[in-house]
Amino acid sequence: MNFTLTPEQQALQISVRKFAQNELPKVAIEIERDDQPPSLALKQRFGELGYLGINLPSQYGGGGLSHLDAVIVLEEVAKISIGVAFPIFESCFGPTLAIAHFGTDQMKESVIPKVCSGDMVVAVSMSEPEAGSALTDLKTNGRIEGDKIILNGTKRWCSGAGHSEAYVVYCRLDESPGAKGIGAVLVHKGAPGFSFGKRDHHMGFRGVYSADMYFDNVKVPTSDILVSAGGFSKLMDAFDLERCGNTTMSLAVGQSAFDFVLAYVRERKQFGKPLIEFQAVQLQIAEMKMQIDAARLLLYRAVVNAASDLPSVAESSVAKCFANETARNVTGKAMQLMGGYGYSKEFPLEQKMRDAWGWGIAGGSIDIQKINIAAALVGKRFNQRL
Ligand SMILES: Cc1cc2nc3c(=O)[nH]c(=O)nc-3n(C[C@H](O)[C@H](O)[C@H](O)COP(=O)(O)OP(=O)(O)OC[C@H]3O[C@@H](n4cnc5c(N)ncnc54)[C@H](O)[C@@H]3O)c2cc1C
Repeated sequence: MNFTLTPEQQALQISVRKFAQNELPKVAIEIERDDQPPSLALKQRFGELGYLGINLPSQYGGGGLSHLDAVIVLEEVAKISIGVAFPIFESCFGPTLAIAHFGTDQMKESVIPKVCSGDMVVAVSMSEPEAGSALTDLKTNGRIEGDKIILNGTKRWCSGAGHSEAYVVYCRLDESPGAKGIGAVLVHKGAPGFSFGKRDHHMGFRGVYSADMYFDNVKVPTSDILVSAGGFSKLMDAFDLERCGNTTMSLAVGQSAFDFVLAYVRERKQFGKPLIEFQAVQLQIAEMKMQIDAARLLLYRAVVNAASDLPSVAESSVAKCFANETARNVTGKAMQLMGGYGYSKEFPLEQKMRDAWGWGIAGGSIDIQKINIAAALVGKRFNQRL
């Protein structure tokens, strides 16, 4: 077992860090202030640098590298802000990975190169007003008529809704009840009958659009079926990788909060000496460091064991839960250690705390992940309905 990044990965990390620290702080401030996603020009720049879909197959324009390489890139950019990093998150860990695994050649050819060049973002749309944790209660229906699917239903909380160019929409593709009838189709923005509600405004995640999405007899060619009815478990397998992206975003938020507060407590003096000289402060700094290192190791385990395939549900859920809780703990402690300055919008901690919270809800809540972990341990699914 080797805990050291390869020389190529270390070089990648240094080059992304340099780019992110030099070129992204200003744009991250604008994204936070204006609550607008990164511009097309910036997404295309990410594409030129090879950051988008670095772990997608090279034959379709991806980088052909590992999920660990994608984690390295995403962490460095997300340490600046999750809003600026969101297109990288979507390209490396979002539904395009499901397209790479399960899509037809035609779908891969039409989507992946555009995602990797920064010209297209694909969002995932699973949740509905009545189906959050109980995802298999979803009602959005795709009736197949000849070579068309007629989509009807309402979706909620889709990150990117209204802004992304395309959506992988989970829906019922036959009459089978529960998970059995669920598949997914690719729907492009602009399809007649496909519309968006007013924009949601979250506590954090500024620069990431979210809105209800309405499907009113939207006609989609059957060639845009990504996964047919009966393939729900395939979708969840691909979603295990999304959880590793979620973990990376949490880790980046926690790590950057930690880096900021460590410098702060070494600088800030009270009672005539730097805060770090107080033992109570030292203990908190040590606890933060332990949690961040553990979160990183759990994430690396999940993606390294997956190689270029999909991670195990147990390892990705353990990593996600731990990193989600770590990000919340670390940003909370870091904010407290900065006193009034931590609570001020002049400093980055309050934003990091707001962003940290969302990752423990997005991608399946922390408690639902814990149920997954227990289920994997005993080799059975716990029926939540009985
Ligand atoms: C920032 C953000 C981004 C998101 N992005 C997307 C996206 O891109 N695409 C998408 O489809 N969705 C997205 N979501 C939606 C997200 O997946 C859901 O919010 C999440 O699955 C929880 O569903 P819910 O909000 O309906 O909460 P509910 O399911 O109503 O759960 C509420 C609370 O009850 C708990 N709970 C529910 N059932 C159980 C149980 N059986 N046992 C124990 N506790 C339980 C949950 O843990 C939670 O704390 C996003 C959400 C957020 C906050």
